[in-house]
Amino acid sequence: MSIVTRFAPSPTGHLHIGGARTAIFCWLLARHFNGRFYLRIEDTDTARSRQEYTDSILASMRWLGLEPDAEPVYQSQRADSYNSYVDRLLATGHAYWCACMPEEVDAMREQARQRGEKPRYNGKCRERGLGRAAGHCVRLKTPLSGKVVFDDMIKGAIAVDVTELDDMVVCRADGMPTYNLAVVADDHDMGITHVIRGDDHVTNTPRQILIYEALGLKAPRFGHVPMILGPDRQKLSKRHGARAVIEYEQDGLLPQALVNYLSRLGWSHGDQEFFSREELVRYFDGSKLNPAAAAFDPVKLEWCNAQTMRALPVEELAALVAPFVEQCGFKGIPGDRLARLCLMFRERANTLKALARSFTPLLVSVDALAWSEKDVAKHLTDAGKCHLRALSKIFAVCEPFAAKELDAILNAFVFDSNLSFKEVAPPLRTALMGFMGGTHLHEIMDFLGREEVLVRLDYVCRR
Ligand code: GLU
Repeated sequence: MSIVTRFAPSPTGHLHIGGARTAIFCWLLARHFNGRFYLRIEDTDTARSRQEYTDSILASMRWLGLEPDAEPVYQSQRADSYNSYVDRLLATGHAYWCACMPEEVDAMREQARQRGEKPRYNGKCRERGLGRAAGHCVRLKTPLSGKVVFDDMIKGAIAVDVTELDDMVVCRADGMPTYNLAVVADDHDMGITHVIRGDDHVTNTPRQILIYEALGLKAPRFGHVPMILGPDRQKLSKRHGARAVIEYEQDGLLPQALVNYLSRLGWSHGDQEFFSREELVRYFDGSKLNPAAAAFDPVKLEWCNAQTMRALPVEELAALVAPFVEQCGFKGIPGDRLARLCLMFRERANTLKALARSFTPLLVSVDALAWSEKDVAKHLTDAGKCHLRALSKIFAVCEPFAAKELDAILNAFVFDSNLSFKEVAPPLRTALMGFMGGTHLHEIMDFLGREEVLVRLDYVCRR
C-alpha cells in the first residue's frame, strides 16, 4: 500500500511551530515510504479565514521545503462532494432529517446534564421519517451501543463508547456540511492513508470513524501528536518566545535548522541531535513518536540554528546573509567580502540577522558608526587615546598590513610599552567598531585595511 498523508491547516493565522511540526511529520512519513504528501486548506470558516493567511502558510511550507505533491485542495471549493456524501448517508438510512431547533437541543443537553449524563441530543427525530425542509438539519444515526476503537500511531489503542457520542449533525440547517463530514469526505477523496494531526482533534476521530463506517469506507490510520508546551510546561504562547514560521524566516533562522529542531520535538532517533534532510527521511517511519508533550525551548532552537550556520560552506552562508545585509542598508557588497565577514563573525551570531548586524560596523564610514557612549567614555580616555596615537604611528608604516603581522605588532606593542592587553585592546576595539564588541582585532584591521584603520584612530583621537 502506498502511503498518502496530508497537512490540513485552517487559514485563520500564520503557520506556527505546532502546525509546522505536524506538517513535517506528515511530509517525512510520505517521503520515507515513497508515498505522497498533500496540502488541504480548511477554509470553510469564512468569518475567520483570510487569503493572506493561506498565502503565508503556503510560503512558509515552501520555505521549510515541505512541497506537496499536488496543488492544494481548498475545502471552500468542495461543497458538491460534501453534499453527495450527505445524500449517500440519507439514502442508505445512516442519517436522518431533524427539525429540532437549537434551543430545543440545548434544553435536551441541559436535561441530560441534570440527570448526571453526558449532554447529548436525545434522538427525538431519529425515527420520525422527516424530509428536507427549511430549518431541517441532517444527523448521523449513531449506533445505539458498542465502541469505536482505533489504534493511534502515537497514543496506542483508544476506545470510546458510542453512548458518549450523540447523533451528530453532518449538514446544518443552512445547508452547510459540518466539519467532521467535510474532513471524512476530503480524506477519502484524496486517498489519505495516514492522518497525523494535533491531539486537539482526538475527540473528532471517533466521530469521523462513525461517518466512515456509515459510508462503508475504510478509515485511514490516525496519529495524534501531543501539543507543544512552553518550557514551563504551560500552553505554548508568544511569551515563551514561540513565533510564527514567517517570523523565524524574518529573524534569519535557517529552514533546515527549524525543521531539524521541530522534528526532534516529540520524535527521536537515538541521541542524534542533527540530521540532514536525507537522514530525517531515512529514519522517520512514524514509529518512536512520543505520546508525552514536548517542551519548546527557544534557546535550544537558536543554538541549533547557530550550529547549522557554522556547518554551512561559507559561500552558502554569505549568499543567505546577503538579504539581511541589504536590510541593514548595504547593497551590492561583493560575495567574497561577505564570505570573509561570515568567516570572521559566524562563531558569534546565532541568526543570519544577528550575523549581518554583527559586521555592519565594518561596512560603514567612521562618521556613521553607532557609537556606544558608555564604551567611548570608559575606554577612549586620555590614556587610551595616547596608546592609539602610538599605534597609529606603527600601523602607518608596518609591512605587510595583514592579520598575522598585525597580531604580532599588537603583542609587541603591549609588551614593549609595559602595558597590559586590557589597557590597549578596549580603546582600539571601541575606535574600530564603535563599541566593545566584534571579533579578533587583527582580523578586523586586516579587513578594514590600513587607510581606514588610520582614519578611525585619527577620528577618535580628535574627538
Ligand atoms: N484544520 C485543522 C487544524 O488546523 C486540521 C484538521 C485535521 O488535520 O484533520 O487544526
